Amino acid sequence: MQRITTKLLQPVEWQAKARCAEVDPEIFFPERGGSSKAARAVCSQCEVRSQCLEYALNNKEQFGIWGGTSERERRRLRKERTMRRLRAVS
Ligand code: SF4
Repeated sequence: MQRITTKLLQPVEWQAKARCAEVDPEIFFPERGGSSKAARAVCSQCEVRSQCLEYALNNKEQFGIWGGTSERERRRLRKERTMRRLRAVS
């Protein structure tokens, strides 16, 4: 929880249910080439996973595991969403 609330001026309701508040926040920031398996396991059991992912996508979070995704995965998701929006308006 701390890793999330320190990034926000006004914490939002879903963060109170963040499963990551119960574990070492370091696992959500693996070294380059390190495993994110432990963090993803926590996220997979988190009831606010979708809200967390939306937050990370909307705020372009560049570091760490959010909503069970890596930075690279979020970049790909943002790109896919952008492409979908562009197709919808053309
Ligand atoms: S999905 Fe993962 S990073 Fe997001 S709040 Fe839940 S445990 Fe934390």
